[in-house]
Amino acid sequence: MGSRTARPSVLATLNVDHPEWRPLLVLIAETLRETERPQWTRCVPALEPHGRGGRPLLDGAVIGVNPRLIERWIRRILARAADTGTEVQPLARAMAAGRLSPRFLFEAAMSQDVDRLDQLATIHGDDRGVLRALAPLIARPMLQACRRAWADRVPADWAYGYCPICGGWPALAEIRGLDGVRYLRCAACGGGWRTEWLRCPFCGEDDHEKLGSLVSAESLERQTIDVCDGCRQYVKTVTTLTPIRPDDVLLHDLGTVVLDVAALEHEYCRPAAKGHQVELTVVMQASRLRDVLDLRS
Ligand SMILES: [Zn+2]
Ligand SMILES: [Zn+2]
Repeated sequence: MGSRTARPSVLATLNVDHPEWRPLLVLIAETLRETERPQWTRCVPALEPHGRGGRPLLDGAVIGVNPRLIERWIRRILARAADTGTEVQPLARAMAAGRLSPRFLFEAAMSQDVDRLDQLATIHGDDRGVLRALAPLIARPMLQACRRAWADRVPADWAYGYCPICGGWPALAEIRGLDGVRYLRCAACGGGWRTEWLRCPFCGEDDHEKLGSLVSAESLERQTIDVCDGCRQYVKTVTTLTPIRPDDVLLHDLGTVVLDVAALEHEYCRPAAKGHQVELTVVMQASRLRDVLDLRS
């Protein structure tokens, strides 16, 4: 992937520029390390020939995972969150007592199903939104593995505003290279797909009278906010010479938070954390061979 050179720089820059974000950056760094473990790649299911009719590739997938892999990962991210002072005790207690199944939690996180996550939070006494905040990080290693395996299976004519791989809404739009082709980028799986210049990704509005741009104060960096008066939502747009690395989309989203503040000041919002709802099933597949492989890597 060649991401080792750029990744520390984006993360390191944010660490220096925003010391107040360190609790979150610590968790993102942990997630980036986890994403590199090859065990996740071995869990990517064979792809059914779909991705048509607006169905993201992940929709309908059955993902067989080693129970030890996801239990270990969820416990680790909870422990790291606890280290940074996050109130994870209700969730950690529920898991330790066997009341919160790692498989169930992992499945809800992978589906990006906010209703299910909120139900779990209510049942287990997480009244601070910790589960909602951690779910994208819990899902991330597996979603990134799916994107790596499936990126070349995305239909070239994908015309929807949500991610063709995982169904998430784009975190930002990217005007790429000298040709100025516009891509939408997903922070959850790192995916990217080509889109028209004048179309709201969220409601499909293409009436140019209802679409506009707010130019940021730091326009030297060629960042704008594309707004839609049809749905009052916005997408941040950055101009890049080369594509943002998939692992770094989340960090770029974070690093452009000044644009989110500007959009909010103009009363535009981001969509709720749900693009196209995907239905998927996670099944536990303990395997002695897999355990041996996992221990070796
Ligand atoms: Zn995605
Ligand atoms: Zn819109």
